[in-house]
Amino acid sequence: MLMQEEEPFSIVVGLPNSLWKFKRLNAFVVGCFIFHNKNETLRDDIVKHELVHINQFYRHPFKQPFGYLTNANRRLEYECEAYAKQILFLLHKDYDIDNFDLFLGIESFKVLIDSFSNVIYTSYKLNMDESICRDRLLHAVKKATTEYRINVELYNDIPFWADGGSI
Ligand SMILES: [Zn+2]
Repeated sequence: MLMQEEEPFSIVVGLPNSLWKFKRLNAFVVGCFIFHNKNETLRDDIVKHELVHINQFYRHPFKQPFGYLTNANRRLEYECEAYAKQILFLLHKDYDIDNFDLFLGIESFKVLIDSFSNVIYTSYKLNMDESICRDRLLHAVKKATTEYRINVELYNDIPFWADGGSI
């Protein structure tokens, strides 16, 4: 089945509201631990995103945390990989989240790319243009479709998809 893959070993830790000082974060990962505010629902798509970071950590247990914290370019790369899988998960699951009216189609794909590239641009202290964040995210989504064996013909009507340009 689509999107089924082996998930890395992980431990989910719900922190009480009083300890959650990260207003703009839904969750974050340290090693194999996913921390979240236990007063808020941990959405499936966010878990999917965090599991990508855990896989990155298992791939490079020293390089990943160090690179993430010290190098904006690496941080962008790690986040794009995680958001790419989150986007594909949302597109291929009939999933409702508050801010999106999702359906499987070009519009929802574009909304997700636009929304998440804006989140990447504003939330990770990257000091880069939003267009760079969007291009890198799109590139990561294309790469992830191969891993998920998604039929990319689905997206062939999207002009920026076919020619590799910016959205
Ligand atoms: Zn992330």
